[in-house]
Amino acid sequence: MFRAAMRTDAQLDHQHLWHPFTQQRDWLGEEPLMIERAKGSELIDAEGRRYLDGVSSLWCNVHGHRHPLIDRAVSDQLERVAHTTMLGLSHPGAAELAARLVEITPTGLERVFYSDSGSTAVEVALKMAFQYWQQRGGQHVRRNSFICLADAYHGDTIGSVSVGGIDLFHSAFGPLLFRAHRARSGDIDDMAQLLRTHEEELAAVIVEPLVQGAAGIVTHPPGYLRAVRELCDRHGVLLIADEVATGFGRTGTMFACEQEGVAPDLLCIAKGLTAGYMPLAATLATEAIYEGFLGAHEEFKTFFHGHTYTGNPLACAAALGCLDVFEVERTMVRLQPKIRLLAEMLRGVAAMPEVAEVRQRGFMVGIDLGEHDPATRMGHRVVREARERGVIIRPLGDTIVLMPPLSISKADLRRLVEVTEHSIRAAQPLQRLDTAAAGRAHAALLKAA
Ligand SMILES: *Cc1c(COP(=O)(O)O)cnc(C)c1O
Repeated sequence: MFRAAMRTDAQLDHQHLWHPFTQQRDWLGEEPLMIERAKGSELIDAEGRRYLDGVSSLWCNVHGHRHPLIDRAVSDQLERVAHTTMLGLSHPGAAELAARLVEITPTGLERVFYSDSGSTAVEVALKMAFQYWQQRGGQHVRRNSFICLADAYHGDTIGSVSVGGIDLFHSAFGPLLFRAHRARSGDIDDMAQLLRTHEEELAAVIVEPLVQGAAGIVTHPPGYLRAVRELCDRHGVLLIADEVATGFGRTGTMFACEQEGVAPDLLCIAKGLTAGYMPLAATLATEAIYEGFLGAHEEFKTFFHGHTYTGNPLACAAALGCLDVFEVERTMVRLQPKIRLLAEMLRGVAAMPEVAEVRQRGFMVGIDLGEHDPATRMGHRVVREARERGVIIRPLGDTIVLMPPLSISKADLRRLVEVTEHSIRAAQPLQRLDTAAAGRAHAALLKAA
């Protein structure tokens, strides 16, 4: 018998797993919560305890867990084929999904290139923009750099970190990254200045439209995205919209770009694409960009990129199921009153003395708890309090993120906000002391534990 079977799953986790974005020393000090099943907006652990999925299993669940229609779409596909390749072959699901994505995304985006994660969708967009200008030739070959926003997050691969603005990642991997120009978020004058200064060497501007998720749900002033699009046009620079987080209804419209009537040259989508079922991403391009890659074989204008599981049939089936549910359940229509309810309830949260600011765009919420000594792990403590009360949420530093499935009931939405409120209050006592001293006390406790 396999030796591992003698140990509990929690022990196996502690002995062999390495979790993403996790200080394993902290992780080993806690019993891991094992999620075995889920249904609708709830996650269910090994003991049968139920938790509200307040962050949509990292921002990607859209219609709830175990949605019968998506479950069936995937199991039907499983009876045909689980995986085949997009290199040299095609399959019906990939083709149908591409057509439907072109239909629902902003006008002008005509070509769909699949990959597997948000990071790769961005990586693909950057390489497409770069290679596109190289192949245009002449003075355009100088267009080899990018403008991104300060505090931007576009993923964790080297290219996507290069156009990111999270200092922590840059200090960790600095020497591996390529240089990019950083514009102050939401400041159109700064963007205009950078475009003027670097016009001839710019391949593209990359932005998270309307909301910068990982920065802490930072929202841009109305009109900013529209103005960025106009500036890009004026300077002949491509615009890449990273809708990995904002896509598929999150901001209250199917895509955030719609709210400002903007059509990007390249669009990155992932997270919600399969409703949170399977890893799948896509980079959509205009026909003009696509045509820049056409040529005789020996010209080598091929786009040199592709992943093994690109366009996986099970994932495409899940994505098609996801789009079907949007239609059948009129998800976007039914979402609107829930966005208003959420806004109403958040007014109470914003008034709490423990809360510095609440930022909301549709179903993306950041509750900013202000500055705390990192050692107090304030965000983490709030999250632990919420877990005790049957709600799973995640912090981004000291910002608490709420990002429920679009399908959540009004009753569960109320529960999510109420539990968050109680948890913020319950997490406070230590912080009422001098925060630095409390941080040291907390660190000492952790060591002693
Ligand atoms: C999550 C995210 C990514 C990265 O997606 P992964 O699937 O985690 O690689 C990229 N851009 C934005 C805006 C995101 O929120």
